[in-house]
Amino acid sequence: MGKQIVIIGAGLAGLAAARLLRKEGHNPILLDKGRRIGGRCGTRRSGGHLFNHGAQFITAVSTEFSALCQQAAASGAIAEWDIGRRRASYAGQPAMRDLPSWMAEDLDVRQQVEIAHITKQAHNQLQLTTTQQDHFVADRLIITAPAPQTTRLLAEVAPALSSAAATARYAPCWTVMAGFDAPISGIPAFSADVSDIISWYAAESARPGSSQEARSLTIQASGTWSEAHLEEEADLIASLIFSDFRQITGLKISPELLQAHRWRYAKVTVPAISEHSRDEVIFTAGDWCPPETADTAGGTSYRPTGSRAEDAFLSGVSAARAVLTSL
Ligand SMILES: Cc1cc2nc3c(=O)[nH]c(=O)nc-3n(C[C@H](O)[C@H](O)[C@H](O)COP(=O)(O)OP(=O)(O)OC[C@H]3O[C@@H](n4cnc5c(N)ncnc54)[C@H](O)[C@@H]3O)c2cc1C
Repeated sequence: MGKQIVIIGAGLAGLAAARLLRKEGHNPILLDKGRRIGGRCGTRRSGGHLFNHGAQFITAVSTEFSALCQQAAASGAIAEWDIGRRRASYAGQPAMRDLPSWMAEDLDVRQQVEIAHITKQAHNQLQLTTTQQDHFVADRLIITAPAPQTTRLLAEVAPALSSAAATARYAPCWTVMAGFDAPISGIPAFSADVSDIISWYAAESARPGSSQEARSLTIQASGTWSEAHLEEEADLIASLIFSDFRQITGLKISPELLQAHRWRYAKVTVPAISEHSRDEVIFTAGDWCPPETADTAGGTSYRPTGSRAEDAFLSGVSAARAVLTSL
């Protein structure tokens, strides 16, 4: 019988790992605590509006991620989005979640399954216990939960990996979703580095493939401002960020819907050192532990820093390769 490979997390890292393992003839199970696939590459629908409240766009530099983006674009899941960057930029068509959903086709993904505890058993197997007290047995485990959660989950069962995960650092991000009852006009469709508070906003209607009227805006606060206001109430944050937005843009209309989402671990600022050679059974992946380098089509090497969706993808591929070598 083949080895049972379990992957915690169905974000870009977990999906990248699962796709490669599947291609090599394995049937990994992906377990994710979220209601929907994609992790931080996510989309939320609320009050008739669609908001891409996590990753805003993806850029591709490495050969492998560029190839994936081209395949996803050919299938219609994503499309190039010209936002004035040097690198090829893409957005989900029209939802960022369309990329992880496309990547998950043919994979065994189980949502709303949260792993609370991992123990070692006889024959070098692992037992994963969920918050609902269900159990999964794994011969190999790839864990892609954000570093602080990985640190906790591996503290007893793989202390070296747990300590390595504890070295990663993140910036948080407060994201505001504003929905209007009439189309907004007179402001640019998207803009970066808007003010001391706001680092980015986009009208969801500006995304490729969107059929929406310009009635939904996603606004993201800078890491520094988000950090300073991390523990405030979401309603207060939503009104502070939206007031700044009105002042900067001169927008006169008020939203019919205004919500804020706190991303506690949004973007990696300091990645951990990749440690998956240290344990033959448990492997880590995620934007917080990217590989040191990756090839580019131009023949130069790309050095991931962990701050981009591409880095999460590359870490998943790298962990899957390490698993394959270990079998
Ligand atoms: C607000 C924001 C804006 C961003 N903007 C950009 C951008 O414009 N461009 C860009 O390239 N990148 C951007 N990023 C970063 C990008 O989204 C991430 O680097 C990438 O999506 C991370 O993928 P991942 O698979 O490593 O982690 P995640 O997407 O976080 O996936 C981890 C998964 O693990 C699951 N999980 C965690 N713990 C458990 C558990 N105990 N049991 C089961 N499941 C568990 C979670 O539910 C989650 O789905 C942004 C991120 C945020 C939050």
